[in-house]
Amino acid sequence: MDLKQYVTTVENWPKEGITFRDITTIMDNGPAYKYATDQIVEYAKEVGAEIIVGPEARGFIIGCPVAYALEIGFAPVRKPGKLPREVISADYGLEYGKDTLTMHHDAIKPGQKVLICDDLLATGGTVEATVRLVEQLGGQVVGCAFLIELLELNGREKLGDLNIKTLIQY
Ligand code: IMP
Repeated sequence: MDLKQYVTTVENWPKEGITFRDITTIMDNGPAYKYATDQIVEYAKEVGAEIIVGPEARGFIIGCPVAYALEIGFAPVRKPGKLPREVISADYGLEYGKDTLTMHHDAIKPGQKVLICDDLLATGGTVEATVRLVEQLGGQVVGCAFLIELLELNGREKLGDLNIKTLIQY
């Protein structure tokens, strides 16, 4: 299946000059959403994932069906103030300023093999901060899976020699 045809490109959103890749038109098409999920499930099996980790909110949309299919767990990565128990935090740089991601302190067991899932790899800042959180908890990141990769932003460079799978490239 050519998944790219189900992505909707929105020019000048959320602000002037940005080209936004909208994955909701993959999700609202049953066969396309299943196909995308199945591709990542196969990759998760290849890398031996034992738990899926996804940053809010679109990482949940990609990661949760993969976890369900494999009958493994899913651990959410959230913005500050959203998780109810003790958390660990990681800061990451934005174009202007910084942002923070958090995880529950016991979300990953030491040595657990983690697959990080998100909708889109741009500069790699979000996933790089997520990798730091997982590693701080003693997890081993065995792979990172995305529906979309924006090649010109070189997100892969930020991720060193981590194993990365993307289904659609621009
Ligand atoms: P990065 O941290 O620069 O790699 O940006 C990736 C994050 O920003 C992901 O969590 C995406 O959900 C979001 N993002 C950035 N650009 C887009 C886009 O064009 N479509 C959908 N999400 C995007």
